[in-house]
Amino acid sequence: MIIVMSPGATRENIDAVVKKLEKRNLRAHLSTGEDRTIVGVIGDKKTIANLEMNMMDGVEKTVRITEKYKLVSRDFHPQDTIIKVGDVEIGGKEIVVMAGPCAVESFEQVRETAEAVKKSGAKILRGGAFKPRTSPYDFQGLGEEGLKILRTVADELNLKVVTEIVDKDDIEIISEYADILQVGARNMQNFQMLKALGKCGKPIMLKRGLSATISEWLNAAEYIMIGGNENVMFCERGIRTYETFTRNTLDLSAVAAIKELSHLPIVADPSHGTGRRKMVAPMSRAAIAAGADALIVEVHPHPEVALSDGDQSLTPADFQKMMEDLHGIAKVMGKTI
Ligand code: PEP
Ligand code: MN
Repeated sequence: MIIVMSPGATRENIDAVVKKLEKRNLRAHLSTGEDRTIVGVIGDKKTIANLEMNMMDGVEKTVRITEKYKLVSRDFHPQDTIIKVGDVEIGGKEIVVMAGPCAVESFEQVRETAEAVKKSGAKILRGGAFKPRTSPYDFQGLGEEGLKILRTVADELNLKVVTEIVDKDDIEIISEYADILQVGARNMQNFQMLKALGKCGKPIMLKRGLSATISEWLNAAEYIMIGGNENVMFCERGIRTYETFTRNTLDLSAVAAIKELSHLPIVADPSHGTGRRKMVAPMSRAAIAAGADALIVEVHPHPEVALSDGDQSLTPADFQKMMEDLHGIAKVMGKTI
C-alpha cells in the first residue's frame, strides 16, 4: 500500500501516520517530493489489507499495490533515484560511462586501458577479478590481486571502480577495493547473496539474469533494498533468445520498462548484449535514446589476445570514436556525456 499525503500535510500528520504503522509492526518508507510526501507501507500482507488510513489528518488517499516489489517501485518513490559514487552521480543529467577490460589480466593491461578510457570520458573503471566463466577450464580471474590492480590504477587516474562479486563471502574484501559491486547475470537470483548485499554499504549494479523476466529482476532488486541498501542500479546485458547472430539479445525495451516501473537507475551493457565489437557503438546510441542512465563497455588494448570476451571488446581507438559520437544523442535526450 502507498499512502499519498495531501500537499498541505504537516510534519505532525506524517509522524502520526508513521507511528500508526509502526504500532502494527509495519515499516514506513517515506518519499518526499516537491509538493507531497508518499508513505510506502511494507510488512505483513494481512495487516496491510486490514489497515484503515484514509480518515487520518493529512492523508489524501491510499493506493493498494498489487506488484510484489515495493521499494524498487516508482509508485513508492516517484522521483528518479540518483546514486552518488563519490563525485560521480548515476541517474541524473549526465550519462555515466563505465569502461575497462572484461577481466583484469595484469597491471599493465589495466593501466593502459584505464588511461585510454579516462581520456575519452569514462568515469568508472570496470574489470573482473572474480570471473564466473561458463567453462571451469577458462580463466577464472586474478582474485584479490586483481582488485588491488583496479584500485591502484583507479586512484592514480581519479576513476571509480566497478567489479563483480560471485560469492557472498567476498563482500568484505571486494568492498575494501571497489566503489560499486556488480551482481552478474548468473547470480541475479542468488538470494542469499542479494540479502547480504542489502546490508553492505556499497552501491550495487544488478545485472539482468540470462532468462529473467522484468518482474523477476525487479524482485531481485527488492531483496537488496529490503535489507536497507537503497543504492541499487539495474543493468540490461541482453537475454537469451532464439537468435544466434548476437551472443544475447540486448532488450532495450527493458530500459524503457525499468524507467517506467522503477525509480532506480538503469545501465546498458552493449558488450555482453551483442557479443560483437561492431555492434557496441550503435547499440550504445540506441540505449541512450531509450533512456539509459549509464553504459558499461568492455575495452581492451589488444582484444585479439584478451583472456575473455575479446570479440566484444573495443580497442581504445574504437572507444574514443564511440564516445565522440555519443555526445549528439545525449544532447537530444537533454543529457550530457
Ligand atoms: C561481465 O561483466 O564481464 C560479465 C560476466 O557479465 P554478465 O554477468 O552480464 O555475463
Ligand atoms: Mn565480459
